[in-house]
Amino acid sequence: MSSPTEIELTTPSGLSYKQPVGLFINNEFVLSKEADSEPIQVYNPSTHEEIVKVQSADKSDVDVAVSAARNAFNSVWRDTEGSERSRLLYKLVELLERDHDILSQIEAWDSGKPYYANAKGDVTASITNYRYYAGWADNINGRTIEASSKKFAYTLHEPYGVCGQIIPWNYPMLMASWKVAPAIAAGNCIILKLAENTPLSMLYFAKLVVEAGFPPGVINIFTGLGSVSGAHLSGHEGVDKIAFTGSTATGRAIMKLAANTIKNITLECGGKSPMLIFEDADLDQAVKWAHGALFSNMGQICTAISRVYIHESIYEKFIVLYKQRLEEVSKVGGAFDESVFQGPQVSKLQQEKILDFIKIGKKEGARLVTSEELPSDLHSEGYYVPPTIFADVSQDMTIMREEIFGPVAALSSFSTQEEAITKANDSEYGLAASIFTQDITRAHNVAKKLESGQVFINSGNDSDYRIPFGGYKMSGIGRELGEYGLINYTQTKAVHVNLGLRL
Ligand code: NAD
Repeated sequence: MSSPTEIELTTPSGLSYKQPVGLFINNEFVLSKEADSEPIQVYNPSTHEEIVKVQSADKSDVDVAVSAARNAFNSVWRDTEGSERSRLLYKLVELLERDHDILSQIEAWDSGKPYYANAKGDVTASITNYRYYAGWADNINGRTIEASSKKFAYTLHEPYGVCGQIIPWNYPMLMASWKVAPAIAAGNCIILKLAENTPLSMLYFAKLVVEAGFPPGVINIFTGLGSVSGAHLSGHEGVDKIAFTGSTATGRAIMKLAANTIKNITLECGGKSPMLIFEDADLDQAVKWAHGALFSNMGQICTAISRVYIHESIYEKFIVLYKQRLEEVSKVGGAFDESVFQGPQVSKLQQEKILDFIKIGKKEGARLVTSEELPSDLHSEGYYVPPTIFADVSQDMTIMREEIFGPVAALSSFSTQEEAITKANDSEYGLAASIFTQDITRAHNVAKKLESGQVFINSGNDSDYRIPFGGYKMSGIGRELGEYGLINYTQTKAVHVNLGLRL
């Protein structure tokens, strides 16, 4: 008997629903063509219990998905008007709103992110992206260029065609929305590869794609191993563009694979983002933003403010207040506990990696400010990590240099503005940076000097669907969100018009 492609499940808070577990190709859930392909086990990070197994796509499944997307593009989607793409996206928004709670519960269960503190907000933010790009779909226009009295040209912003998209596990629905919404609005067909750990919410989303009425093959979504199906998608001859979010190491591998066919690429990779707190800062606000910008979502944020540089005159005071804030707010517990701020990390592997970083921090001589104790009533098998602050972290220490992707802060002091900027820029990454000061001139001068794709003045990690997001240096290539994110899913054709120049 073959495996089912949909399974009845009940979430920890008692909601029963039908969970797709197949590969979503051509508007159908199918099994992998490779009979020996081992399914992927999906765990509940709060308890380490298996939730379900999902299909793992093999190379031949990716080939089928790419053909489906190509056929859809050539036969229907290429000629589908922007107004119709917009209508379909708005319909999808309606269905996402209807199923907001199911999606939030799945997201919390599967990823470990607290249902109340994170998952519900993530689903809302995802829906906002679909709504925002639905509005763009019939507003994509080129320009006219007056070249001379005998010549003008106009530009057309055309879709690439077939786009491969690869997402990580830290924001399954949100990261997907950053990619799917602009790609579809711009008229592309997509093949989305989900992260191994957290496929369930986006497989459920696939059902809504059918219900919304998207033609078969326009949106294809699959689960599979990065090294097998993700790599095959990235190098595939039938894929015109690849968009990736994940680690810098994987981004580098994808860039090499994409080079075979000179694919357009967008990479959103890692970060080690600094916050600079000057002596005139509103300290109460700096403490709150610094805490939220790192410790929410269990520190699994690419723009996490993981390095905090504080002016020496307020350094010790900041440490006391920051620790106090963490003790008041960062309650650790299971994903469905209403009072919980910090759930488990996404996987055992991540938990172990972060605990190793904490050991290294102590060994290299950083000052541990917080307790390593976890609440005694936690499920012993869950992937929990104590929220951790280290002070007196020097620039050469591992925890100041490497992306931990967990709830671990590295604090240090500075004495001059130049020193603060030099320390902030002393990183291979350049995703986000934050400045706290009440001096407007200093704020803008420092913002200009920071090597970072986004700078937050008097906030931290405060990204917005209307504002471009992306990295400098090894944090990435290209931009997502806002109009910039849309343009990244189009290619520009220049049409030259001769107004009578004769040879
Ligand atoms: P990862 O790079 O291991 O995996 C990300 C995705 O890439 C997964 O779907 C995975 O299956 C796939 N993948 C893995 N190897 C592949 C390969 N060889 N070819 C093609 N695809 C492959 O990262 P992760 O562990 O899932 O996520 C954590 C990392 O993601 C962190 O470093 C974090 O900074 C980064 N991240 C960045 C952003 C951003 O916007 N800049 C956002 C979220 C996460």
